[in-house]
Amino acid sequence: MNIRIGLGRDIHRLAAGRRFLLGGIEIPFEKGPLGHSDGDALAHAVTDALLGAAGLGDIGEFYPPQEPEWKDADSLLLLKSAWNRARDEGWGLVNLDCVVTCEMPKILPYRDRIRRSLAEALEVDPGVVFVKGKTGEGLGQVGTGEAVEAVAVCLLEKVELEKVEKEVKEKNERK
Ligand code: MG
Repeated sequence: MNIRIGLGRDIHRLAAGRRFLLGGIEIPFEKGPLGHSDGDALAHAVTDALLGAAGLGDIGEFYPPQEPEWKDADSLLLLKSAWNRARDEGWGLVNLDCVVTCEMPKILPYRDRIRRSLAEALEVDPGVVFVKGKTGEGLGQVGTGEAVEAVAVCLLEKVELEKVEKEVKEKNERK
């Protein structure tokens, strides 16, 4: 079988004085996710989905939260580094679909920027990345606005490395 599904989920408590980051895009808001890194729940969920699909492990193994190296880390860099590990094993991304749940802020006005940011980090077409914003309907910590949650599912296919290298080269030439 040369295709694999991956699933990732993450939740972060919201606190005043933190930047609200989703997929590397900052959304103006009075609170932001607490975390050892920058707290980007969507980037973390996507990273776990990709690592899981490739059978490589999970984000906590590669970037342990207790290590000073990852303090305030840019989660998009962690995502890129994890994706490079998967690509080194010959995996290519078919598509990525994500759900972000939080009461506030609203995700929709930022959705396409978030999609482009993730697609750029993964070096894929934005058309294969989708992000949906939901609310928690007042239920649980997400519903009362205390936390932000992200779920990501991806499909990977095993591709020939020469093909990937050719695509990356062509993309760089077009820039
Ligand atoms: Mg996290």
